[in-house]
Amino acid sequence: MTVTHHEEIPQLAADAAQRGRNLVVMKFGGTSVGDTGKIKDVARRLVEARETGHRVVAVLSAMGHTTDDLIRLAHEVSPHPHPREYDMLVSVGERISNALCAMAIHDLGQEAISLTGSQAGILTDTSHGKAKIVEVRAQRIHDALDDGKIVLVAGFQGVSSEHEVTTLGRGGSDATAVALAAALGGACEIFTDVEGVYTADPRLVADALKLPKVSYEEMLEMAATGARVMMARSIEIARRYGVPLHVRAAFADVEGTWIGEEDQLMLEKAIVSGVTHDTSEAKATVLGVPDRPGIAARVFRGLADAGVNVDMIVQNSSADGATDISFTLPKTDLPTAEAILERLREEIGARGIAYDPEVAKVSLVGAGMKSHPGVAADMFEALADAGINIEIISTSSIRVSCVVRAADVEKAVGAVHEKFRLFAEERVGA
Ligand code: ADP
Ligand code: ASP
Ligand code: MG
Repeated sequence: MTVTHHEEIPQLAADAAQRGRNLVVMKFGGTSVGDTGKIKDVARRLVEARETGHRVVAVLSAMGHTTDDLIRLAHEVSPHPHPREYDMLVSVGERISNALCAMAIHDLGQEAISLTGSQAGILTDTSHGKAKIVEVRAQRIHDALDDGKIVLVAGFQGVSSEHEVTTLGRGGSDATAVALAAALGGACEIFTDVEGVYTADPRLVADALKLPKVSYEEMLEMAATGARVMMARSIEIARRYGVPLHVRAAFADVEGTWIGEEDQLMLEKAIVSGVTHDTSEAKATVLGVPDRPGIAARVFRGLADAGVNVDMIVQNSSADGATDISFTLPKTDLPTAEAILERLREEIGARGIAYDPEVAKVSLVGAGMKSHPGVAADMFEALADAGINIEIISTSSIRVSCVVRAADVEKAVGAVHEKFRLFAEERVGA
């Protein structure tokens, strides 16, 4: 198996800047293509862009909950679906929406062609279910654009160096769109079911505000801590290749959120940009292990080798020579982690292992934190005032995260949002 650590998109072809001048990559998410009526609306929007002189590349997600439905089918048939067949199955959703949209475009009098990830030249490593893009061979797309066609590329998928269909992980159509914009040299518009990136999930916090501008760095932290609106890896690609992103509403013609380099975007910056939450993780605690060298190494090597994605970790030396290690991990990795930890239990001398899926992570993100002390203290006070207990804390230079009870998540996000006055128009600023 070949595993890639970074998505590599080769330098632009010599003529890409010229060709990319009028080129726009327009990505539409699942809700925005949720039924055939919406697909026709998307078709109209693409035709409009074509008729105003753009070279148009569209990346459509699967319709509505299609991907979830396909994943459920796989698990109905098999508890551990074969990775190759899993990708053969779940990549199908995007093929349906893009083909339907191409049909609708033809009926509007424009030429269009839908391509699978493989046909579009999206080459990936061989890591099924979470493949990374290693190259974009865009000749076929260029040729179709030169012929005046609107090109629709099935998001979320590619073809591996072993000629197998791969998928890029949940939310992967964002990565497809950004990689194409990087490879083709065009602008990238992400059309979704909210009007942009907000100070908190607008579905959870009614007075969340749309942010006019967010830096790559902040968006990466927001995405990595649960702001579903952009896939984190797509932001890494955008940052590496300097692709400016515009996240905006699929069916309203309003300005959304621009994501780009910090210095290009912000003259005067708010200290914090947003509060995110994530309920997709669980907490595990290895209880009463001896306080001696090698225990953490053994535990986390075992988990890493099994592909378990550990996030926050806390451990503290204790006076009585025994210690607990707590960490968070995706709920979907729990069965794998349980098997590993039960196997290691005797070797590491653990008194027991506890699993707790009823947790949520609430994070505060903002580039201005670097130069403002007291942000973490304010966040902890907000949670304390709301009567919420903090179970784990972790920080980066622009983020503070707290694990709380899952039942408290809405209250916690609201309290932190309120404390930092993220609802106040004046803070969004320039
Ligand atoms: P798409 O299908 O277009 O890719 P997603 O469902 O992946 O859309 O992402 C959009 C959703 O992200 C929104 O409906 C919203 O509920 C959620 N979301 C979470 N946090 C934020 C945030 N800070 N700003 C905007 N949307 C957010
Ligand atoms: N359809 C895929 C998913 O639901 C990819 C995407 O929508 O971005 O994860
Ligand atoms: Mg998405």
